[in-house]
Amino acid sequence: MTDLGFADTPELDFAGRVALVTGAGSGIGAACASLLAGRGASVLVADLDLDAATRVADAIGKSARPHRVDVTDPWACEAMVDEAVASFGRLDVAVNNAGIGGPRELTGEYPLDGWDSVIAVNLSGVFYSMRAEIPAMLSNGRGSIVNMSSILGSVGFARQVAYVSAKHGVVGMTKTAALEYARRGIRVNSVGPGFIQGPMLTEEGAAGVAYLHPTCRLGRPDEVAEVVAFLASERASNTTGSYFVTDGGYTAQ
Ligand code: NAD
Repeated sequence: MTDLGFADTPELDFAGRVALVTGAGSGIGAACASLLAGRGASVLVADLDLDAATRVADAIGKSARPHRVDVTDPWACEAMVDEAVASFGRLDVAVNNAGIGGPRELTGEYPLDGWDSVIAVNLSGVFYSMRAEIPAMLSNGRGSIVNMSSILGSVGFARQVAYVSAKHGVVGMTKTAALEYARRGIRVNSVGPGFIQGPMLTEEGAAGVAYLHPTCRLGRPDEVAEVVAFLASERASNTTGSYFVTDGGYTAQ
């Protein structure tokens, strides 16, 4: 251990810790679950798609357990936390990552059902998850929550009013929860990735947005997972309420 009390190498950061990751059946969530497990955590791999969660958990090995959750259902979020505690004894880390893209339309024509579904998953889903996770973390006196926002948590993007609104909301709810629990051992941070390789972007869409980043490329899920793991770990012990971008310089422009 260092003088600051955390592991000497990142590989040991989560030894003996219990984590849950939502949307962990694919992309960024799968990368987060794998990295946390690789650094010692027991991980509940939670996703709407149980087959996808099972594939990820099987690839990780016996420190992972798949779980089906629909984060738009507050009771399902409570059941997810109960499952983490029942499986592994407690909850130390939560990565609230599940998200969807939604329709691409101008605000004046935005489909109401598209608005409702994006807000339900990307905004309410993060709230329902935190609402279930925080009591479990309080009961063991500590915890670290990382909420997945986006660069679109701080800047606008044409034809994405629902997604942009939800991701800005995630930044605000992160700051609010951070203030509320700062003296009770729970840190709450958000991450703002730029556009990331994965199913959320078509090949054509990926080519169309890569050049918007000063790095002229998309980020990778494992690059986001590194930032998430840092914030979730004791290395970030004095970091709470932050919105931490990993965006190839997108928002620096
Ligand atoms: P992805 O589509 O690869 O994975 C999202 C996962 O969430 C899927 O496995 C899906 O089944 C799951 N999911 C969807 N609805 C759910 C629900 N109601 N309950 C539980 N799980 C549900 O997406 P990704 O690119 O890995 O994105 C993950 C997160 O990162 C999202 O919150 C997204 O908004 C955010 N993000 C993505 C990008 C990007 O360019 N891909 C950029 C910034 C932020």
